[in-house]
Amino acid sequence: MFFERVAVIGVGLIGGSFSLALKGKKLCGHVVGAGRSAANLKTALERGAIDSVAADVAAAARDADLVLVAAPVAQFRGIFQDIKENLKSGALVVDAGSTKRDVVATARAALGAKIAHFVPAHPIAGAEKSGAAAATAELFRDRRVVLTPLEENSNRDLESVARVWGAIGARVSRMTPEAHDQVFAAVSHLPHLLAYALVSDISGRPNSAQLFGYAAGGFRDFTRIASSHPEMWRDICVANGDQLLKEISKFSSELEKIKKFLESKDAASLEKLFADARAARERWLTGEHE
Ligand code: NAD
Repeated sequence: MFFERVAVIGVGLIGGSFSLALKGKKLCGHVVGAGRSAANLKTALERGAIDSVAADVAAAARDADLVLVAAPVAQFRGIFQDIKENLKSGALVVDAGSTKRDVVATARAALGAKIAHFVPAHPIAGAEKSGAAAATAELFRDRRVVLTPLEENSNRDLESVARVWGAIGARVSRMTPEAHDQVFAAVSHLPHLLAYALVSDISGRPNSAQLFGYAAGGFRDFTRIASSHPEMWRDICVANGDQLLKEISKFSSELEKIKKFLESKDAASLEKLFADARAARERWLTGEHE
């Protein structure tokens, strides 16, 4: 498995890490990058994540054997439209978008018959950092990558894409786009929203300076992901808004339950909830669900 020419559209944390990992494993020849920020592309070149910068997205895709789309998900429509005419026959297209129903619908609308060579994926490996400066060849090691195959995909293309992610250290699994968006609304999108919400609430209060002055480890841990890229999370929350709204309702019910324990001074129920939650987290940390 070797790709002569790889195009990375959006050479940020994920795109840059993907190309560094491919290069590290000697799985590719030339990597061309395309993006919105000249400064970020310069960093990507300096760090060796890409070998050249394309004039635009369409030019990057020309002659590529593998195209990775790793921009914020609201950018995908324009990108797919731009690359469509330049994709060479049989070129594989993959993505790293954090939502999947919207990405699949967008790809289907924009790529026409070329959709068959698009294998959607979501690497469950990230960080609150962004840009090529944060990219690392090790980002995907021992991390899950979820493929959401399309009925149009051939087994050959699916296996190739699974092998690429596997070769750079990822553990590949499959889901439908619908199941993917439900699961990640609960365990990724809601937590990000809550972290942003807490910081927003605290920072909007008249005594916010005092509150931040005393905030310590717990606050830091809980809110780490509120340092994530706002545009990326705006796009994810909008794209998966229906599932996220359901999760907000479930979480509100949980808070209502806890509120009642507090109002009735029901210490035993509160302790049981905390103990059960701690035990569930311990089981998760020890990899029981892997
Ligand atoms: P990032 O901000 O580090 O990189 C995104 C890059 O895309 C930037 O360099 C930006 O300039 C470029 N870009 C924006 N619009 C573009 C366009 N129209 N054409 C070409 N380039 C464009 O973000 P990231 O963390 O690498 O995320 C990239 C994708 O991966 C997103 O879709 C995100 O949902 C997904 N993802 C992120 C994480 C994470 O934790 N960071 C994890 C899994 C998946």
